[in-house]
Amino acid sequence: MAMQYKVTASELKERYFTCERCGAFGEVQFHAIGEGGWVQESFFVEDAEQRAATQAADALQVDAERVIGMIRCPACKQRPKGAFTGAYLRVGLPTLLGLVAIFYGGAGLVMVAALCGGVAAWLLFRELKRLGRANRAMVYKLTKPAPEAKPEKAYKPLRPAKPSQSPRPATAPVAPLRTSAPEIVRPRGPEDGPGFLK
Ligand SMILES: [Zn+2]
Repeated sequence: MAMQYKVTASELKERYFTCERCGAFGEVQFHAIGEGGWVQESFFVEDAEQRAATQAADALQVDAERVIGMIRCPACKQRPKGAFTGAYLRVGLPTLLGLVAIFYGGAGLVMVAALCGGVAAWLLFRELKRLGRANRAMVYKLTKPAPEAKPEKAYKPLRPAKPSQSPRPATAPVAPLRTSAPEIVRPRGPEDGPGFLK
């Protein structure tokens, strides 16, 4: 009888942590879980147990990367940008396929739609478990970047009054009264010629 192997690897990971949003950095500890598929021993697959272990180890690395991409920064309380993009895509693809099968395939593709729904639900469950691992991650030795110096307000001496801000004289200058008599406009006569030549 052929043996079947399936390995699930679990490991407490320790990584450097850097927040891309606020620049805080430190170290982080979290659980990663890698679940391999079933590997059946056969004439061609003699090292099934080893292969199953390798699959699990690979899945563990993938999980670790995805978990660390979801960890909320303790300093600024934010997750990395696009923290859920991968999860949305992984869950969204089978969901979309299932909906397409229902709406365009009709009764003939009900089983396909159900299968897609099952896969989507299972993937969603996995993503939620992964999010739980990210939320339970322990960030320690956290160093916050020094707050940037406020632009030279605090230590600047009081400004001397600018010339433009000097107080105005109490009596504002008044336009001088016109002393010359207003010019009398002489009415145009015939000797002036046509007006447009002036
Ligand atoms: Zn942060």
